[in-house]
Amino acid sequence: MAETIFDKIINKEIPADILYEDELALAFKDINPQAPTHFLVIPKKQIATVNDIAEEDRVVVGHLSFVAAKIAKEQGFADQGYRTVMNCNEYGGQTVYHIHLHVLAGKPLGWPPY
Ligand code: 5GP
Repeated sequence: MAETIFDKIINKEIPADILYEDELALAFKDINPQAPTHFLVIPKKQIATVNDIAEEDRVVVGHLSFVAAKIAKEQGFADQGYRTVMNCNEYGGQTVYHIHLHVLAGKPLGWPPY
């Protein structure tokens, strides 16, 4: 599977503003924030798109939401609210082919997102 920029962040080959790390996941601030708070939660395992999530990946993919909520609680915006989004392929707006959960917060977010 092709390496992405996120593998370089996981391997600390390029810098990122890391918020959380454990054996399964890494969370870091998005380089181009779309809300006052915008960070990404990614699995350390390479999974290119949501379509590539295998049965064995169910725990790690669920863990991404757990980490998002943990950071939201720690940073104090959990009750105010936030959005988690995982874009898939071209029409979903995916640009980095290593799945990532966007976490957006800090202002009321519009819906639908187009
Ligand atoms: P996608 O469009 O694939 O759903 O989201 C990819 C996200 O990764 C974008 O929001 C983009 O700003 C972010 N991103 C791309 N390259 C980097 C990088 O090198 N560092 C960080 N922190 N974020 C990045």
